[in-house]
Order: sequence, then structure tokens, then C-alpha cells
Amino acid sequence: MKFATLVSCFERLEATSSRNEMIALLARLLAAATPDEIGIVCYFVLGEIGPGYSEVNLGIGDRTAAAAIALAAGTDPASVDAAARELGDYGDVAARLIAAPGGEALSVAEIHRSLSEIAGASGPGSADRKVSLLAELLAAATPPQRRYILRLAAGEMRLGVGDMTILDALAEAFLGSKAQRPPLEHAYNISSDIGRVARTLREEGLFGVRAITVTLHKPIRPMLTRRVARISEILERIGSPVIAVEEKYDGERIQAHKDGDDVTLFSRRLTDVTHQYPDIVRHVRQYVTADTAILDGEAVAFDHETGTYRPFQTLMRRRRKYRVSEVAGEIPATYRAFDLLYVDGESCLYRSYPERRAKLEEVIGRDEHISPADRIVTGDTDGITEFYLACIERGLEGVVCKSCADDSFYRAGAREWQWIKWKSDYAPGLSDTLDLVIVGANAGRGKRAGTYGSVLCAAYNHEEDLFQTVCGMGAGFSDVDLSDLPRRLAAAKVDRQPARVMVNPQAAPDFWFAPARVVEVLGLEITESPVHTCNWDPERRRGLALRFPRFVRWRDEKSPEQATTAAEIAAMFRRQREV
Ligand code: ATP
Repeated sequence: MKFATLVSCFERLEATSSRNEMIALLARLLAAATPDEIGIVCYFVLGEIGPGYSEVNLGIGDRTAAAAIALAAGTDPASVDAAARELGDYGDVAARLIAAPGGEALSVAEIHRSLSEIAGASGPGSADRKVSLLAELLAAATPPQRRYILRLAAGEMRLGVGDMTILDALAEAFLGSKAQRPPLEHAYNISSDIGRVARTLREEGLFGVRAITVTLHKPIRPMLTRRVARISEILERIGSPVIAVEEKYDGERIQAHKDGDDVTLFSRRLTDVTHQYPDIVRHVRQYVTADTAILDGEAVAFDHETGTYRPFQTLMRRRRKYRVSEVAGEIPATYRAFDLLYVDGESCLYRSYPERRAKLEEVIGRDEHISPADRIVTGDTDGITEFYLACIERGLEGVVCKSCADDSFYRAGAREWQWIKWKSDYAPGLSDTLDLVIVGANAGRGKRAGTYGSVLCAAYNHEEDLFQTVCGMGAGFSDVDLSDLPRRLAAAKVDRQPARVMVNPQAAPDFWFAPARVVEVLGLEITESPVHTCNWDPERRRGLALRFPRFVRWRDEKSPEQATTAAEIAAMFRRQREV
């Protein structure tokens, strides 16, 4: 496939405001790709060059981009910077300054090879090598292609296409309709590699996709929790006669893969965080007795001297490239494992939770640095309440209740009633905060001139794969948060309403953002609203809105599709009315 074909599809994807059209465009594109290309096409559409977890980092910042344009244009970086200040986008700068007309001959595979080579360049001289490789690519490409090459290199594709949109398009292209998405979604949830799912579907059909299974060192999308308004609802919702009530830790979710001595750790966003936790790597190697295993759990900062858990922010200080071992020494991490997804060469996803738990206890030698999550098994609400209160006293944030039924499988990527969290009520009206995606902002006035006055927040509607607005939020930001807003949001800024963002005209913001940044928001209650589009009912022209929203914190570890869903907000609204 010619890169030109892909670029003209990118342009049409950017221009459309309809998700269905997006799917149709992608379906045609994917149907035309060969088995070797189809995976690359999926990655490129998502703005990546490999599966999300591979974290192939192109490392192309503004300086490298400017140097490459200068080299391809035969000018100096200062003129490139001047043009960038005027035009604001390196794609436009490249179009203006590089005189070579380029050609239509470049193929998708060639672009992928060159970008991978740029990503792989390391060691002395690698910065220059990246510049010259990128310059060669830019010189050979046409002006519109240059724009997308630069965006891919910078990791800022911003087409507004999500993984579920691609899965819908694959289903439409190869299985006749997007209603056929579930088996593809399942394969994606356990492999976390959309390119692999696409390639397998193209080559081996649904049969091959169904055979995709758990693989060591490839992350599985984590199972998530739901919430309820009252503790008394938990047992009924879960629906098994007895449930497990586990401690809920406020640390970082870590999936640990052990393959002999080889240990890989993945974050909740499926990025490889092995280097951030050298201590957890050691504990897994030393205390997990099975030769191969995949554990799901939480890294927590536990203060062994005081016997208390330290807050989540303490661990986040490890999100760094340098001096990791120094920081790890200051803040030792403990691993609390709450699930076992694979053991002794076999997947455990389809074993019940009690079976997985029993095996988990068998394979972890208890040590103060690594152990299975503490828990009780109970069949009554008083039992849950007692354990919950004891957890709060120990400085934990609550409990996670889990089904013990025969079909309590590990549902990768799902947020269903099998796992319910119950936390200390820190919101006066709602039993929990919401995690919302910023999709727009209004210009600030007065004291907020020069930054944004408020941001437009959306929930994720999983069924429709849309981001639907819930509230405009200006409260809760400190002065530092406020002045930092433009910088935080810069990479997501786009010229027009992204296709998967649903906004009513009355709520249209001054600036648009591709769904990327997630914030935690505290609110008083959910109400019906003619303005916001969350769970939009076209007949009644009503959606749901969050009243009195306040900013709590950034949730950088969450992807937009992991935000609170429209279905969860609908459930919160219904429960509010029942109380
Ligand atoms: P929250 O904001 O409430 O911490 P979240 O929005 O990050 O939660 P949820 O799916 O709502 O994500 O809550 C589940 C999270 O709680 C998991 O992602 C995991 O990191 C954490 N957790 C802590 N202890 C447990 C446990 N015992 N079982 C499952 N998850 C746990």
C-alpha cells in the first residue's frame, strides 16, 4: 500500500464528524491492506508504530524535527524555528520550506521501516542519525505526507480514532458488520496488540483470532471495578452466595510476568515499567515459586516502621528515567498480588476466582515485600462493613468485593459487576469521584487571562465509542494548576471538533482537544441536562450532567477509554433517585 493512500484516508478521517463514516473509511482502508501491512496501518492510525505496550519511543522532540526539516530544506534551524513560530505546526513548516517535490512512491512498509530505524537508533551519534533519517524521509515524501510523518514521529497523530473504532472497522471489513466486534475485542483484551489481531483476522479469519491466547511478556488488559451507592447493594449485585472482600490499595496497578528469572512489569496503561520497580522485580523472581506466572496486583509504598501505607503520590516519584534505584531505596515498594492470570505455561483466565486465588496462595511465598492481598470471604453485609472499617483504620482506601461464583472468570479489559469497589465517602453527594476526559476549553478572562477559564469534560460511552460531555469545570484548580493548563493540554489541541466527541452547540468550547487527558473530578450530584450529551436521549433531548464539579487531580496513568463510562454515570443517576 502506498503511504499516499493512507494519507488521503487520514485527511478524510480528520475531516469527518461522523463516527460511522470513520468506520466505513477505515474498513475500506483495512480491506485493501496486505497481511504484512494491515498491522502497521492499525498502529499508524492510532499514532503508533507498534503495539502500545512496546513503547517504541521515537524520541522526536521539536529540536530534532526542526533540525531534520532544516537538513531536508537546505536551510538553518533558526529559519525553521522562525517559520514554526509563525505557522505553529512543523507539518506546515516542512510544506513551506522543503522545495523538493517528493514523490508518491513511498510505501507504508518503507515509512514503518524508517520510523522503526529512527526509534532504534541509540548510543553515540544517534541524535544525528535520527535527524538524517528523518530528513531523508521528509525529502522523499510529498508535502501532505510530510505533515503526517512529522506527527507520527512526534507521537501526536490526533486523528481521534480509538482502538474500539478500529475493531469495529475490522469487523465491518472482514466479518460483514461491526456487530461482530466482540470476538475481536476479546482477542485484543488478552493480547493488547491491535496489529496482531488485525493480521490474524486477515490471514486466518475468526478461527485464528479465537486461538489468540495469553503470552508471557505481552500485557493483558486489566479487569476493572464497578461501584454502588450503598454497601447493602454489593451482595445482590455480585449475585454469588459468598463473596471475597479484599483490601483496596492506593498504589500503582502492576501486572507482573515471570518467565524463569526474566520478569517484566506492566502498568495499568500497559506500558513497561520494569525499570521503575527493581525491588518488585527482585521480589517476584525470589518469592514466586512457579517457573512461569502472570500476577495482577498493586505496588504500594508500605512503611514497615510505622506499619502504614504511604499515599499513591509517593510512588509516582518513581516515574523517572534516572536515579531510579536511589528513589527506590528511599521509597521501597511492596507488591500485593490479588490475581493470577497465567501459571506453569497455561492461562488461568477461565478458571473461577476461588481457583485462581487458591493457586495464587500456593505460588507466592509470603514475605513482607510480596504477598497475596488480605481478604475475607463472607455472605453478609455486616461482614463486608466490618472488614471495610478495619481497612480504613489501617489507612487503606477501601475494599474490592469479588464474585466467587463458578463463572467468576478474569474478564480482561471489562468493567462488570463481578468486581465492586467500596471506598470511604470523600464526595458529599456521590459515593465516588469521576474520571473524565478533557475535550475542550474556554479562554480565561480577568485573573485567568492567558490560560483557560474552564475545561469541558466528557465521559466515555463504550457502546457507542463516543466521548459525551458531562460538565464544564473551572473550580478546584490551584493557581499553579491553572497556569499549567495550556502546557498540559498543548499536545492534544486540535482545530476542530474531534469525530468521537459529542457536544451540543450550546456547550461548544473556544478550543478543542482530542480525547487524551484524564482528570479526577469531584461533584455533588448527577442531573438531567439539555446541554450535556452523556447518555443523550434524542427524543427527550436530554443528557446527564455533573453539578458543581471540582478538579481533584490529573490521572495521567489512565487512557481516555479508561475514564468513567456513560453507563456508570447513568447507574449513579438512577441510584440517586432511589435513595
Ligand atoms: P480508584 O480511582 O477508585 O482507585 P480507578 O479508577 O483507578 O480506581 P477502578 O477500576 O475504578 O480504577 O478501581 C480498581 C483499581 O483499584 C484497580 O485498577 C487497582 O489498581 C486498584 N486495586 C487496589 N486493590 C485492589 C484489589 N484488591 N483488587 C482489585 N483492584 C485493586
